[in-house]
Amino acid sequence: MGNKRPTCISCKKPLTVWGKTPYGKKRYGCNTCRITRVYRRQRIKTDFFSLFRQYVLWGHTYEQLADQSGYTPQYLQSKFQLFFSQKPPELPLLDLSNQTEIFLLLDGLWLKRGFILMAYRQSKNLTILHISVVGREAASKIAKDLKHLLFLGYRFTGVVSDGGTGIVKAVGEVFPHKPH
Ligand SMILES: [Zn+2]
Repeated sequence: MGNKRPTCISCKKPLTVWGKTPYGKKRYGCNTCRITRVYRRQRIKTDFFSLFRQYVLWGHTYEQLADQSGYTPQYLQSKFQLFFSQKPPELPLLDLSNQTEIFLLLDGLWLKRGFILMAYRQSKNLTILHISVVGREAASKIAKDLKHLLFLGYRFTGVVSDGGTGIVKAVGEVFPHKPH
């Protein structure tokens, strides 16, 4: 992207960089007129989802993303709130009724900032039954997912997981008598 050097609105001379705004945007000033100006780079539509991915997957901070996008951390936070409130799509129901021994496999993929992508699969052909993103209070959210699987009609002989703290607690609550 070609950055045109901003010019003074008064004398039309090229401006020089005079530090940064609190949100990391470059502030320019005219050495002759002492007028400052925050230069707005022209940009194509901001992809907030891409910024959100950087936040959750790569652990970028709001400050870094604000610097990159030109939006304030507060504005980005309000945009991300929309993504946080969205649920992954419900997966098609599988007919497992003719299967005799099915184990529920719990996998947690650790994202940044304490978020875990939970995948619930069945042991027969490893098809994913349910997916969710778990943040704080992982145990209660996982327990909710497990109850949801029961509600959908899935039944399991036992549960297999890597034994993360939240997982053990949730399985103990929802499947107290199943081997885990
Ligand atoms: Zn000037």
